[in-house]
Amino acid sequence: MQPQQDEMKPKTKLMKKDMIPPDRNQCQAEVPNGNTFMTLGGVPSLVRCSNKATHILKEKVAAKDGLKGSMSVCGRCLTKFIEQRTGDLRRYGIEKL
Ligand SMILES: [Zn+2]
Repeated sequence: MQPQQDEMKPKTKLMKKDMIPPDRNQCQAEVPNGNTFMTLGGVPSLVRCSNKATHILKEKVAAKDGLKGSMSVCGRCLTKFIEQRTGDLRRYGIEKL
């Protein structure tokens, strides 16, 4: 049986992001750049965390596009991630580097 057309075409953006292999040297999380709307000349945005990676986060269940995402994080970002995902932490595997 042929898969449906929609299933054949995963969302390109999602796929590209998921295809980036985890960087075992540098944390791949995005963190605020430290500027706020009060910082003159500064634009608040997200920049890639510059800390050394200590763990790899892995999705245990594939997303709708059939891909399992994984990314490296540092200790600080791992703590943040756990705080934010307490409800569905079981969906992720945490591997120490
Ligand atoms: Zn980090």
